[in-house]
Amino acid sequence: MKIKVFLGVAMCKTIRFLAKLLGRGSSLPGQITLKFFPDILKYIELPDKVIAVTGSNGKTSTLEMIAHVLKEAGLKVAYNKEGSNQIEGVTTFLLCDCTLSGKVKSDIVIMESDERFARHTFKHFKPKQLFITNLYRDQLTRNGHPEWVYDVIGECIDDSMELILNADDPLVSKFGKDRANVRYFGAQRLPMDSEENTSVYHDGKYCPCCKAPMEYDYYHYNHIGSYRCTNCSHKRNDTAWTITDASLEEGYIVVNGKYKIELSFSSIYHCYNTLAAFAAADIAGVDGEVAAKALSGYDLSSGRIVKFNLGKREGTLLVSKHENSISYDQSIKVAAEDKRPVSVMVIVDAISRKYQTYETSWLWDIDFENLKSDNIKEVVLAGKYHEDLKQRFSFTDIEESKIRNFESIPEAVDYLRQGEGYIYVITCFSDKHKFCELAE
Ligand SMILES: [Zn+2]
Repeated sequence: MKIKVFLGVAMCKTIRFLAKLLGRGSSLPGQITLKFFPDILKYIELPDKVIAVTGSNGKTSTLEMIAHVLKEAGLKVAYNKEGSNQIEGVTTFLLCDCTLSGKVKSDIVIMESDERFARHTFKHFKPKQLFITNLYRDQLTRNGHPEWVYDVIGECIDDSMELILNADDPLVSKFGKDRANVRYFGAQRLPMDSEENTSVYHDGKYCPCCKAPMEYDYYHYNHIGSYRCTNCSHKRNDTAWTITDASLEEGYIVVNGKYKIELSFSSIYHCYNTLAAFAAADIAGVDGEVAAKALSGYDLSSGRIVKFNLGKREGTLLVSKHENSISYDQSIKVAAEDKRPVSVMVIVDAISRKYQTYETSWLWDIDFENLKSDNIKEVVLAGKYHEDLKQRFSFTDIEESKIRNFESIPEAVDYLRQGEGYIYVITCFSDKHKFCELAE
């Protein structure tokens, strides 16, 4: 066995070294090593603390923040910093952190795992804690519905793992039903909550356990809020880590009534990611004051929020995910709640960079209606799917005179360059660079 581990680790490290020289990705070394030693992860010696994060949205940002806090607290952390979150990427970063005898050198291992592939990644070892952030409609052609993703995540869970669940997501919290080894994080009633669900669709209308209608006391956004089933015992659970106060206008959250954390970016999404990072730091033994200080004002480096200039105009690009309406809804909210006069540009050019799909039904799930806000002076639609976008917008109450559409992204950018006011660009990783290379 020892020789197998030695060969596996040595192979992975060597290929990693060569791959870096050739500018190749971080999955390749793990991929090749797994071909020769498919169960290598079973034999490596992990530290006591192993925390994993999965879910539809927020994995990369949450992981980055956890890593930041732990490092600030003086811990040596191993994690998939390049975002390769399937078994090949996890194998690469774990083996590269190992001694040749197969012992992970860092004090703590944290990792994000693709929600569909967690069952493969966690076949040969289990994290001590598994965070599940949320389950949304996301990449329908690849993932199916959230209920399907729920089932496949379930395949990796056993009694040895502690689940750390988003209490405010009714489907995620179903993982904790009748389970002892579970804790929750979530937000209590906040000033910006609403009593009605105003989204185009409502994924919390029926209980995920028994399909009876659910009742909500309030919604933080979409179907995320405080719910209870009218038939069975499924309801929002009490939380160990709680956002007890928050202001998106002033840009802060308060955790557990005493830790105030300034937000570098005001979105409810960022509040949840920050809370999850705080909880993970707490589990890792980091003092609350230290965690709050490290998270305060922390600017994500993963390129999800990009400031730019377009001639005399300033703007922010909010990376959202195509095929994921809730991520669009959050970006739309940021633009709609800005007090300044703004232009909003939506680009849908390549739906995915990883696989081929021409499927645009997800556009109909997005609350574009919320762009009917007085501060929004115009909406510019661009890219190959500009006609699909235009069609979708024709079903909103936004005046037609405010909407311009262009197939060519450079033409749309030239048009925006001539205007006035702040700009928000909402698009996906697959199209982000097409805008960024035209802006300053
Ligand atoms: Zn029920």
